[in-house]
Amino acid sequence: MLFRLYSRLALLTVFASYFVSAKRTSVADKFTPKKRSIIMSRVKGQDTRPEKTVRTALHKMGYRFRLHRSDLPGKPDIVLPKYRRVIFVHGCFWHGHARCKRAGRPATNTAFWNQKIDGNIRRDRRVLRNLKAMGWASLVLWQCQTADNERLVLRLEHFLQG
Ligand SMILES: [Zn+2]
Repeated sequence: MLFRLYSRLALLTVFASYFVSAKRTSVADKFTPKKRSIIMSRVKGQDTRPEKTVRTALHKMGYRFRLHRSDLPGKPDIVLPKYRRVIFVHGCFWHGHARCKRAGRPATNTAFWNQKIDGNIRRDRRVLRNLKAMGWASLVLWQCQTADNERLVLRLEHFLQG
């Protein structure tokens, strides 16, 4: 009995160390640690610049909204409860914007990045389906679509008044 417990623990340790080292080596070589920490902080940070741009535009247009409502699938970046609409502001790289020059996949550690980004794409699709099933309309704004403010305002208007 005790032996079985020990062997299980040993197996777990092997798995854990494999996972940790695999993760470390696969992320490490493309970017410098500094650059990587900037990238990672953008992933986790909720107040990215494109998102702020969208919030500012909506605010100027007179809309009231809430942020990151965790009771909704995918914790949408911007929620307009009155309109039953949500807006996601997606980074082109991390969410795999199709045919976008900002969404180029790194040439090294392709398997790691493909798994990561394809996983995000699948999750995003699932989130949109679930929101739709709950009666929420979603707009996905890509980072590259937030640079032109005039076009952004038009898209927001179209989504919220359509
Ligand atoms: Zn893009």
